[in-house]
Amino acid sequence: MEHPENSSEYAGLTVNSGVEQPSIVNPYLKKMRKKRQKFLNADEYVEGILKGDVSVLSQAVTLVESVLPEHQAIAQEVIEKCLPFSGNSVRVGISGVPGAGKSTSIDAFGIHLLNNYEGKLAVLAIDPSSEKTKGSILGDKTRMEKLSVHPLSFIRPSPTAGSLGGVARKTRETIILCEAAGYNHIFVETVGVGQSETACHSMVDFFLLIQLAGTGDELQGIKRGIMEIADGIAINKADGNNVDKANLAATQFRNALHLFPMPDSGVVPQVKCYSGFYELGIDEILKMIFDYIDIVKSNGYFQYRRNQQSKYWMYESINEQLRNGFYHHPDIKSLIPEMEKNVLGGKMTSFVAAHQLLTKYYDELKNR
Ligand code: GDP
Repeated sequence: MEHPENSSEYAGLTVNSGVEQPSIVNPYLKKMRKKRQKFLNADEYVEGILKGDVSVLSQAVTLVESVLPEHQAIAQEVIEKCLPFSGNSVRVGISGVPGAGKSTSIDAFGIHLLNNYEGKLAVLAIDPSSEKTKGSILGDKTRMEKLSVHPLSFIRPSPTAGSLGGVARKTRETIILCEAAGYNHIFVETVGVGQSETACHSMVDFFLLIQLAGTGDELQGIKRGIMEIADGIAINKADGNNVDKANLAATQFRNALHLFPMPDSGVVPQVKCYSGFYELGIDEILKMIFDYIDIVKSNGYFQYRRNQQSKYWMYESINEQLRNGFYHHPDIKSLIPEMEKNVLGGKMTSFVAAHQLLTKYYDELKNR
């Protein structure tokens, strides 16, 4: 439409028709989206992973973490094809209560490791809190400042979906992909609460427990049975006024360790003090880990432990699949609330309710 201002009545003012304005939506967005959504096939993932392509590795890990069946199918194929190229790493579990200094320490251990030992490092995590609160204790803030920008490191926060078993399985599968991509050192971080430590222990060659002096942790660790699974204890924050306290705690831990039977590895866990923040004693901690690995590789325990872990994961996978199959079955899903009500109302015993549900499930399977 002609602008009214351009009529002769408004002689003093004219308006040009101007140029067409560009869309406020980026016209390339669609193209970019399409490009990003392009999925590789399993062989392309494997090829990229074996080349050490970090972006392909990240995408493959995303598939492993996905709950979509089509993603899972391709992820499983990738994992299977990567398996022959995996296993050649030292897997270290690192645990400690929130605030123990895990991220500070992993940053320091990682940088020291990359500077002094050959190869690459992947840092993964098992974070149990994600299950309940949908939040996480470990968090995904850039907690490892130096390591996160190091070209030879790969840092991946904890998978979030599913039960602890599910989260742990995904971390274990990610280890396989990382190893196939040439990461010969793997750190698996976990929070020192609940069952996550056991899950972490079941996938590593060395389990390091980070402790603090003077917090009552000494007893906590013993009480929770966590000392039995530690292959080494590292007392952090041994700096400034804290050095004496840390040394005292180390003595207490060593004494406590005498109460335990000799571990199957044949190596008595060592207790070392260090400071992650001031980077003191880092080399001793790494040396403790690698010395242990040397010993267990020569006495056969290294392979034995990995075999035991494989067996454990076979049963874990079976359990998870059975559980999922049962609880996700539509008939069972619809029957469970009624059964629950019966049990809560005292109309039925738990065992009868469980038996009826299982019978129904097996009948459904037979009739399929
Ligand atoms: P996380 O929750 O176990 O990952 O612990 P962080 O690494 O986030 O550390 C918790 C707090 O302890 C932070 O404020 C760190 O700066 C501090 N911290 C970590 N390591 C040391 C250490 O070696 N010495 C001292 N004095 N403080 C430390």
